[in-house]
Amino acid sequence: MCEFCLKHGEGKKWYLQAKNYSDELLSDMRRRRMIEEFFANPGRLTRGMEHLKRLDKAPNFIKGMIGRIITSRQKKTHFGQVVPIEEIEQIFGFVGSIVRVACICREVTLQKEKRYCYGVSMSPDGGQFTRILQGLDKSFLAGPDVSGMETLSKEEAISALRDHEREGLCHTVWTFQSPFIGGICNCDRSDCLAMRCTVTHSIPVMFRAEYVAEVDPDACLGCRECMRVCQFGAIVYSASNRKVTIDQKQCYGCGICRSVCKTKAIRLNDRNRVPAAANVW
Ligand code: SF4
Ligand code: SF4
Repeated sequence: MCEFCLKHGEGKKWYLQAKNYSDELLSDMRRRRMIEEFFANPGRLTRGMEHLKRLDKAPNFIKGMIGRIITSRQKKTHFGQVVPIEEIEQIFGFVGSIVRVACICREVTLQKEKRYCYGVSMSPDGGQFTRILQGLDKSFLAGPDVSGMETLSKEEAISALRDHEREGLCHTVWTFQSPFIGGICNCDRSDCLAMRCTVTHSIPVMFRAEYVAEVDPDACLGCRECMRVCQFGAIVYSASNRKVTIDQKQCYGCGICRSVCKTKAIRLNDRNRVPAAANVW
């Protein structure tokens, strides 16, 4: 269990607790202001990434100290966790509505609209979260409908997420003033700022999944399709036996590798039961 499960989930998976998606949490004015500022000012993300690049050149002890401060601050405000698609389906099963919006990270990194982000709410039509976004400048949310938000059925949303998996994108849940979860994103290492911060700059702003992948050597054909989609470099090919294995300390447990394996050779195991990865978050 990650620390949020203990702190916000009473020992169960915190992101599967309906209370962490409630509109009641959104009545907190501090949280509402944070959401407004987050979406109204994407340029802040660009400046954050420039600071990280400068930090990479600092001596290790300074980088480590500042990194710990950033991680600790983010855990309170905007922190994520990798979640496999089966559990995203469970989340879609209990929320009242799902709206799709343009990804703010891709707006910054690609300067393109990529509709990879999903707002979830216990209420219909995106609840108060949608009303907060509707009050903002929508220039970065331009999309097929006027508000920039598309309401999707649960079936449409899960089908879109399966398409994202085939693109190699990894599903993550995100807090806005923890523990309130307002969004599900589909991340990759090149364009997602949170993943860059966590993986490229080694300053975690998201937890790994509660799982770790394992390959059945008897079913593996050695095609290496799974290596192509793994964002975390966790899959190792052995030329001697022409099969792949998982580096359990590197694996984020996203399960994306499964979506491209024709022989279904990959499965996810509970992280707690994998000694090498149980305490790696
Ligand atoms: S995609 Fe499946 S069969 Fe191909 S290398 Fe990976 S585990 Fe083996
Ligand atoms: S090996 Fe681990 S990190 Fe890589 S795609 Fe599979 S589950 Fe995700």
